[in-house]
Amino acid sequence: MSSARTLDENRSTSEEALARYSSEPLLHLINGHSVGSVSQATFDNFSPTDGRFLGRVAAAGPDEIGLAAEAAATAFDGWVSLPAGERKQILHRVADLIVKRADEIAAVESVDTGQPIRFMSSAAIRGAENFRYFADAAPGALDGKSMPTATHLNYSSRRAIGPVGVITPWNTPFMLSTWKIAPALASGCTVVHKPAEWSPLTAAILGEIVHEAGIPAGVLNVVHGLGEIAGKALTEHPAVRAIAFVGESSTGSLIQAQGAPTLKRVHFELGGKNPVIVFDDADLERSLDAVVFMIYSLNGERCTSSSRLLVHDTIHDWFVEKLTERVKGLVVGDPLDPDTEVGPLIHPVHCDKVRSYVDKAIEDGATVITGDYEFDENSNFVNPMLFVEADNSMRVSQEEIFGPALTVIPFSNETEAVEIANDVDYGLAGYLWTQDVGRAHRVAQALDAGMIWVNSQNVRHLPTPFGGTKRSGIGRDGGDYSFGFYMETKNVAVAYDAHGIGKLGVGNT
Ligand code: NAD
Repeated sequence: MSSARTLDENRSTSEEALARYSSEPLLHLINGHSVGSVSQATFDNFSPTDGRFLGRVAAAGPDEIGLAAEAAATAFDGWVSLPAGERKQILHRVADLIVKRADEIAAVESVDTGQPIRFMSSAAIRGAENFRYFADAAPGALDGKSMPTATHLNYSSRRAIGPVGVITPWNTPFMLSTWKIAPALASGCTVVHKPAEWSPLTAAILGEIVHEAGIPAGVLNVVHGLGEIAGKALTEHPAVRAIAFVGESSTGSLIQAQGAPTLKRVHFELGGKNPVIVFDDADLERSLDAVVFMIYSLNGERCTSSSRLLVHDTIHDWFVEKLTERVKGLVVGDPLDPDTEVGPLIHPVHCDKVRSYVDKAIEDGATVITGDYEFDENSNFVNPMLFVEADNSMRVSQEEIFGPALTVIPFSNETEAVEIANDVDYGLAGYLWTQDVGRAHRVAQALDAGMIWVNSQNVRHLPTPFGGTKRSGIGRDGGDYSFGFYMETKNVAVAYDAHGIGKLGVGNT
C-alpha cells in the first residue's frame, strides 16, 4: 500500500511546515506560552535523510522542567474538576485537528525520523484515533465498583493521580506520544511531555493542536531537551506524580532509580527481541508476508518487531530462499517517496550500532545476507539484513538491534520452539503461525510475553492490554488499563448501622 500523495506533494508539505518549525530555536510550550530556555541553551536537529540541519531546539534544564511541572500542578484542579463530558469534547476536537493536519504531521515526521511516509500517514491518523477512543472513554473513567457485604456497602471511585510526566522515544514519536497523552488528559491528569531529542518536531505540532482545541493553559506542557538533563529533572520533580516512559530498558532502570526518592509511579514500555514462530502446517505465504512486514516496516525501529524468526526445520530452506528474494526486493530510499519501504535510520550513532551487527553476526558464526541497495557509508542508510545459520546464543539473537535486521533460527519441535522463544531477556510480543488450533493455544500460553498474535501481524485493538514482561516493561497500556495507571482508586465503606463495634476502655465485664 502506498500513500496516495506523490513525492513532490510530500516534499512541498514538509518544506512549508519546516519553514515554520525552523524558526530559531524551536521553543518549549509551558503554561500555554512558547518560551525558550532561561539559559538560552539549545541543541541542533538534523534530518536523517541527508544530514540537513533542520533547526535549533531549546534545551531545557531543571529550571524549565520546574516551570512546566508547576504549571501542570496549578492547572490540575481546574482540569480534573471539569465535567468529563467537556474533556471528551475537547479531546474530540484534538482528534479532528490531527485529521485536518495529518498530511503535514506525516511529512514532518518522515523528515524528522527517516520513517517512510507510507507508514507515517497511517500513524498520524492512528494518533487521532487514540484521542477519539480515550475521549469517548473519559466519562466512564471515574466509575468504580460496588462491593456490598452484610454490614457495609463498599464502593470505589477513581480520580486522576495529578500532574504526570510523559517521556517518549524517536521511532514513531507522534503516534506513541498520543498513546500516553490522550488517556492522561482523558483521566483528568495534566501533563509535561519530554519528547526524544532526535525527533522533536511533531511534539510541537501536537502542542499547538491541543491548545487550538481549547485545552486550558498548563494542562499540556511540552519541554524539549536531552534525556540525561531534562528527562532526568522531570523524573525527579516532586510535583510530578507518575512517569509514563517509552524507551530503552536501560533508560527504564535509570528512571526507576531517579524517581525513587519521590516515590514515582512508573509505567514502562521498553525494548523487545520478539519471536515469530512459523510451524510447517502454517499458511506459508501469509506468514512470509507477516514476517517481512513485522521486521522491515518502520525501518525495523519498532519495539514489537519480529526480530527473531523461529522456523520449523522442514520449511527452513523454503523460507530462507523466499526471505532472501524479499530482502533483495525491498525499496530503500527517500522516506518522503510513497514507494519507499525502508528509509534512513534516525541518527548516525544508531546507524553505526545497527551496522555493527553485520560483524557481530559473522564473528558469532552466522551468515549475513543483505539487500542490494548501494548506500553511502556516510549516510544513515543501511541495507536490510538477514542473519541465517544462526542459533539463539548469538548477539543477533539476544540483543535488540532496532533496525531492519532479521535473525533466522530453525527448530525441530514445539517444545524446542517455545524454549528458544523464551530464552531471551525480553518479553514484549510473540507471533505464531500454525493451523493447529490446539497448538496455537498451547504455544500462546507458553510464551513469556505480554502480547501474542496468532496467524497475524501486529494488529492493535485499543481496549486490549499493551505491554511486556521481563526487561520489556512494567504495566499495561490500552483501554481501562491506561486509566488504572493515570488514576487513583478510592474505596468508601458505609456501614448499614447495625454491625458490631468492639468496645474498649469499659473494663473487662
Ligand atoms: P531512550 O531510552 O534512549 O530514550 C527515550 C526517551 O528517554 C528520550 O526522550 C530520552 O531523551 C529520554 N531519556 C534518556 N535518558 C533519560 C534519563 N536518564 N531520564 C529520563 N529520560 C531519559 O530510547 P530511544 O533510543 O529513544 O528509543 C528506542 C527504544 O524504545 C527501543 O529500546 C525500543 O524498543 C523502545 N520502544 C518501546 C516501545 C514499547 O511500547 N515497548 C515502543 C517504542 C519504542
